[in-house]
This record gives sequence, C-alpha cells and structure tokens, in this order.
Amino acid sequence: MVQGALELRTKVVEDVLTPLADCFMLRADAVLDFATVSEILRSGYTRIPVYEGDRRDNIVDLLFVKDLAFVDPDDCTPLQTVTRFYRRPLHCVFNDTRLDTLLEEFKKGKSHLAIVQRVNNEGEGDPFYEVMGIVTLEDVIEEIIKSEILDE
Ligand code: ADP
Repeated sequence: MVQGALELRTKVVEDVLTPLADCFMLRADAVLDFATVSEILRSGYTRIPVYEGDRRDNIVDLLFVKDLAFVDPDDCTPLQTVTRFYRRPLHCVFNDTRLDTLLEEFKKGKSHLAIVQRVNNEGEGDPFYEVMGIVTLEDVIEEIIKSEILDE
C-alpha cells in the first residue's frame, strides 16, 4: 500500500479512468418510468452522468441514485425535473492530472466523481476539449491498494 501511495505521483488520470464507451449514462430527455428506473437500479452505479442530444460526450448533469428516493415510476417524471431540482455540480479534470493531485481534490469532498477531458489538437481545426470518460475516488483507491474493489 505504501508503494501504491507513492506511485500516485507517477500515474495520471488517463491511466485509471473508465472510458466514455463503458459509462452507464442517461439521455437528458429520458423519462423516469418503470423501465428506466429498473435499468438504473440494475446498473448498480450510484452516480450517473446525463448527456444532452445524441452525443455522449456532451455531459450536462449528474444524477445520484438517491435522488430517485421520492420519484414514483408511475408518474413518469422527466429526468430533467429531478436533475434541475438537485443540480449536482459537475467536476472536470484533465487526462494528465496526477493521481495524488486528484486524491487531494476528492478529499475536499465536493464530489467523488469527475469527468475526464483532454485537449484535442489533432487535425486541422482549432483545439477543443474532448471528454474521455469518468474517474472516481474508487479508481484512485484501487491504485493505492493495488487490487480491484468488487462492488457489493
Ligand atoms: P459506484 O459507487 O457507483 O459503485 P464507484 O465510485 O465505487 O461507483 O466506482 C466503481 C467503478 O465504477 C470505478 O471504476 C468507476 O470509474 C466506475 N463507475 C462509476 N460510475 C460509473 C458509471 N455511471 N458508469 C460506468 N462506470 C462507472
């Protein structure tokens, strides 16, 4: 564990992130009916990025599963009603942020999930921010203990 902790200085967010393609996410225009709520619960995740339009990299909100506590699937509540009520802040980090720096950010307690972005300056056009995936406190802890934490 000591070695794992020391290695946080040599590893960056990109080494441990969950790629966007593997993220369980919801479209902003989703309706919280029985099927959607069941899918959310089946996913097992506690925080779910919400994207607008057809582009999964266009993350605009974060839904916490606990935000569903007062939602009745029979009401078919629009997801945006819930996200606009709770307004969970989105935190972004760059792909080359060191893991010890990320851990310090997470320790401040604002959020334990961050959206990972990089500056894409490939090609002819202007550079732009590209979303690569998500990273959580658990991803950092796994690096310290050097093993996978299996979810309950
Ligand atoms: P949870 O509390 O939802 O289990 P953790 O923060 O414990 O999430 O993270 C466990 C692993 O799951 C990490 O590798 C993290 O990157 C990944 N993860 C977290 N949320 C999601 C999500 N919505 N979709 C896909 N992977 C996720």
